[in-house]
Amino acid sequence: MNQKYFPLNKQALEDLAKRYPTPFYIYDEKAIIENVRRIKAAFSVFSSYKNHFAVKALPNPYILKLLAAEGFGADCSSLPELMLAEMSGMKGENVMLTSNETPTKEYAAAKKMGAVINLDDFTHIEFLERTAGLPELISIRYNPGPLKEGNAIIGKPEEAKYGFTREQLIEGYALLKQKGVKRFALHTMVASNELSIPYHVETARMLFELAVDIFKKTGVRVEFINLGGGVGIPYKDDQVAIDYKILVDGIKKAYDEIIKPAGLDPMEIRTEWGRVITGPYGWLVSRAIHKKEIYRNYIALDSCMADLMRPALYGAHHHISISGKENERLTETYDVVGSLCENNDKFAIQRRLPKIDTAAEGKPGDFVVIHDAGAHGRAMGFNYNGKLRCGELLLRKDGKVVQIRRAETTDDYFATLNLKGVKKFT
Ligand SMILES: *Cc1c(COP(=O)(O)O)cnc(C)c1O
Repeated sequence: MNQKYFPLNKQALEDLAKRYPTPFYIYDEKAIIENVRRIKAAFSVFSSYKNHFAVKALPNPYILKLLAAEGFGADCSSLPELMLAEMSGMKGENVMLTSNETPTKEYAAAKKMGAVINLDDFTHIEFLERTAGLPELISIRYNPGPLKEGNAIIGKPEEAKYGFTREQLIEGYALLKQKGVKRFALHTMVASNELSIPYHVETARMLFELAVDIFKKTGVRVEFINLGGGVGIPYKDDQVAIDYKILVDGIKKAYDEIIKPAGLDPMEIRTEWGRVITGPYGWLVSRAIHKKEIYRNYIALDSCMADLMRPALYGAHHHISISGKENERLTETYDVVGSLCENNDKFAIQRRLPKIDTAAEGKPGDFVVIHDAGAHGRAMGFNYNGKLRCGELLLRKDGKVVQIRRAETTDDYFATLNLKGVKKFT
């Protein structure tokens, strides 16, 4: 048995692959929206809540439009991401720029859009003032350093390059106030893919206490607290999804204990969750093309780590299912690999799976579905080895499938080369 949700059966995949050859990503609109509504319902205990979807997780305007229609905004880390948010109808303070080592033109674009600028360093106060000019509303990113434990993906806060120290942060608000900034916000992002509810509640508690301290020391009352992203999803079969209600009730309890007695209620709560919004509702669908038996048994797909690099980059686990064989016994042990000339181009290592048919054996190769690929999936792709990244499909609520990004072609790969020059070049 090898089961995890996937919305299409084998016949539907056969039909789809005739129109859109594998590999492709497919996202489930209905499941994403239902998930967003569960999150909003949990946060409804606060008078005001908004998630800024981390665009980097799934930078496609079709997805951003769905989220905008649910009242979500965007968290952007670059100029192209700001542009994606804007073209998806996310406007003004619904957009945040949480960048680091920020180039002038990104600050200028964010200021022009009226986006919330989240400062990453004390020196950026004057840098921003000199370049784009200080906006009316400014957020500051806090790095708690040794006060907070980190986790595997993001590392320890004290070794992370992001944010202000506590002393710099207090000084920063005072300086911004002195320079005429009128409205303020507070942000942190200390973990990634973290499934522990107490960890996230502790982060909120830390920020609430900090907001009170900022108020006492500088008179600055932050308008909203952005708890950042980093909520994990159960990639592994023995992991369980975060229960939003339990998480938010924990955050609310900390709020009632800290923010209310300090007289800072009401204060808006924001998050910038990415992974947990779309991650479980996107899949990379490939076909098995080769089988190779040497010291280990390999199944090779028509995709590779250029399409999904989390396993190679972090040793991340992604559940794999074989369409139509979900109920078959796991009789084989395979390394499931791609075609890139890097031995870490493996989607799974020594994975127990049912027997897989490959195209090279003269049968239509089995569809191999890689789960939980809806965030930080295609977005991380690259073109090393001349590998062309696959396209993206969206399964609409009515069951129809639309292509929301085509696969790359060789023309795309050559687009940035000076091909006229090469003819003349001797
Ligand atoms: C990556 C990132 C996020 C989103 O993280 P998830 O793990 O996808 O929730 C949010 N904020 C910042 C600043 C980030 O860098």
